[in-house]
Amino acid sequence: MKKYRTFDVPKTNLGTRASVISRYEVGSRYEVCLRNVILLTFLLLSISLSAVDLLTLKGFPSQGCLLIGEVDKIVESIFADGKEIKTINHRFLLGFDRDAVLRHTITLITTDGKVEKIVFYLNKYEYDIQNIEKIQQKYIEQPSDPKLKNKIYLESETLKVIRKQMKQNIFCYRDSIFIRPVEKGWISATFGGQRIVNGTPQTPHNGVDIALPLGTEIHAMTSGVVALTGDYFYNGKFVLLDHGAGLSSIYLHMNDIYVKKGDYVKTGDLIGEVGSTGRSTGNHLHWGVNWFEKQINPELVLKTDEVFLKFRRE
Ligand SMILES: [Zn+2]
Repeated sequence: MKKYRTFDVPKTNLGTRASVISRYEVGSRYEVCLRNVILLTFLLLSISLSAVDLLTLKGFPSQGCLLIGEVDKIVESIFADGKEIKTINHRFLLGFDRDAVLRHTITLITTDGKVEKIVFYLNKYEYDIQNIEKIQQKYIEQPSDPKLKNKIYLESETLKVIRKQMKQNIFCYRDSIFIRPVEKGWISATFGGQRIVNGTPQTPHNGVDIALPLGTEIHAMTSGVVALTGDYFYNGKFVLLDHGAGLSSIYLHMNDIYVKKGDYVKTGDLIGEVGSTGRSTGNHLHWGVNWFEKQINPELVLKTDEVFLKFRRE
């Protein structure tokens, strides 16, 4: 009759293999096997201890993109193109505007005092040129009425002040789930497109316009705090959300607003409905995204699931 000895094998990377070994016959063959297991475990452990994914970047690397970064806990500080980036739970965001240069550098400083430099490249993005001829003249020319001029000035200053305050708030960014704020619809103007309104070239479009029926529900693209709502001359009824880590989103020309300043919203929460208020030629949602002062392509925010760069230190 063969003797078997059972014992607790600590859970290792070997998984099922270790439990098979535990059924081996007591004797020299078993001891050799055990020694091999211990040796292999040690080897695997030492490999997994020294090899570290220092940096992972997710997103669609092109001009106007948003990237989600993750660093190992041994990374003490991060610099993107020489500017320090704050992390929240070892994660950070990185945004690039419409005409961003293509070559970028990320510098990591680790707790063991090492400096790692990672260079990556963005793709060039092709932008549309669009002719719009239906906008009423009063919305194109600077209004001459001093009262209205003052109102427009105050509105743009208020937005600037609020955006500045948001830069200091880095704590409400909680997740990286991004959704389209409206279910479907026809894109009537893309991000970065140069509009020629009634023959005059305008500044490039800083969001995406989605044409939809009056009253279509608008949802928060990700969790955040309502930084501002209002009814402005150009924006119409709008909601500005602060997602933290420098990320914000704005929803313009709304027919109705369902939230107020200071409200906390989760990804997908209802914030208002589509309309045609302010400078608008028809019912649509203008959806804009910013990373600090940089204007991001909202459609690329939805492409932040895929890993495009992994920097591993052996
Ligand atoms: Zn627009």
